[in-house]
Amino acid sequence: MTAPFDDGQLEFLKALTEALFHGVDMVISADEVVGNVADLFGRVGGTKLDELRTALELTEIALAPAFVELDVETRANRVRNRLQNSGWDPFQDMARLRGIIYACYYGYWEGGDLPREAGQVANKANPVHRQIGFTLPKYRDRIDPPDLEIKDVTGREIHPGHILTDATLADEYDVVVVGSGAGGAVAAHNVAAQGYKVLIVEAGPFYPSHRITHHELEMIAALYKHGGVQTTTNSDFVIFQGRCVGGSSTVNNGICLRVNEDGRTHPDAPDVLAKWASIGAPIDAAAFHASYDAVQARLGIARAEPRSGRHNGTHLTEGWKAHAAASTDPREKRAVTDWFDKNFGPPGTPSACAYCGYCNSGCPYGRSGWAWRRPICPRRAATMARASSPKPRPSRFCGRRPPTANWRPRRCGW
Ligand SMILES: Cc1cc2nc3c(=O)[nH]c(=O)nc-3n(C[C@H](O)[C@H](O)[C@H](O)COP(=O)(O)OP(=O)(O)OC[C@H]3O[C@@H](n4cnc5c(N)ncnc54)[C@H](O)[C@@H]3O)c2cc1C
Repeated sequence: MTAPFDDGQLEFLKALTEALFHGVDMVISADEVVGNVADLFGRVGGTKLDELRTALELTEIALAPAFVELDVETRANRVRNRLQNSGWDPFQDMARLRGIIYACYYGYWEGGDLPREAGQVANKANPVHRQIGFTLPKYRDRIDPPDLEIKDVTGREIHPGHILTDATLADEYDVVVVGSGAGGAVAAHNVAAQGYKVLIVEAGPFYPSHRITHHELEMIAALYKHGGVQTTTNSDFVIFQGRCVGGSSTVNNGICLRVNEDGRTHPDAPDVLAKWASIGAPIDAAAFHASYDAVQARLGIARAEPRSGRHNGTHLTEGWKAHAAASTDPREKRAVTDWFDKNFGPPGTPSACAYCGYCNSGCPYGRSGWAWRRPICPRRAATMARASSPKPRPSRFCGRRPPTANWRPRRCGW
């Protein structure tokens, strides 16, 4: 890993960090925050690092003159004033930079790249966690209020043996699917189930649960496209996208909501299917919901439990109901308050979600249930992670034609 920033950029980042935290009790130093920023972007590298360097330069211009030489109070005032005027693009860059600096303060982690358990032990007294009253899953009280024991669940994810290397990659595949996310993996699964030999080519790395730690900055750098700082082309929005085996399904919350669901859709909401039909995409509502039913049954999707998040969900729903009852806005009064479905282990079983709160940096306990990531059809579908090697070579594909109307699937025994 080469140093991502030069001395001038590091000095500016430190001056900005001090200004952003002016008047706030910092329990780690500005140098440590800057160290985290450098570490994060050293891992991300590539065009995102180039963009950040440019953003740093633009922000420094926006905060000029002589920002780094000013006393910290003047710097803090200048940042505040500039951020209030956010119409000019460099100020947007500054706002994003502020988010990154905060993430690198609150993401402070001790003990480097220790494995999951050892990492939690090393961070038992993490000063930032203590400052904000955060407790790592290992040290949380699971008895009062009662919650599932946090321990590993096995059998719900891809077996490492189904991740290929250059050495185990075959010379021929019937079908190559690019990307192992919800779209690619489902397509590969279905094609494999029809008897084809399928290769999934995945740009990102393979992180089974036991490699996932609570070091969020490291996990986000490893599992997300551009280390979680991918933006729209005009840089206005951050777009989170997984870049690993399983794609975004590895880092998502497993919340399953249906489009156009009876009883869950706000009664005042426009009819989505009618809208699609009006723009030339008619959908048969019955077939649409039958597909949802099939997926729900296939993946064992079930309603989240009221204990979720140490019963915070119950507080939230009760809070909303109290608000709606007192509200004079008819839309709020009619709003639906309900539990959503979740795609983790079935409720009431030991593999149900333990609600540790780390879904977005990868489930460390093997409970996330995107069933198509599992070796459902292991003899026929395999994944090549970090697929940047010269293999697979298109010239070596067998080129079999896709199924025709007369084609009958060969079962692969999944
Ligand atoms: C943080 C987060 C939380 C979310 N929470 C929920 C939720 O609770 N409920 C819900 O329904 N949805 C949620 N989503 C959305 C949902 O996960 C995505 O919509 C879905 O996974 C998208 O599937 P996909 O296959 O289109 O893309 P992705 O899952 O993003 O997969 C694309 C894959 O293709 C790979 N790839 C791309 N280009 C190439 C290439 N050229 N060569 C090789 N590989 C390539 C990428 O590395 C990636 O792994 C969440 C998403 C995120 C990011």
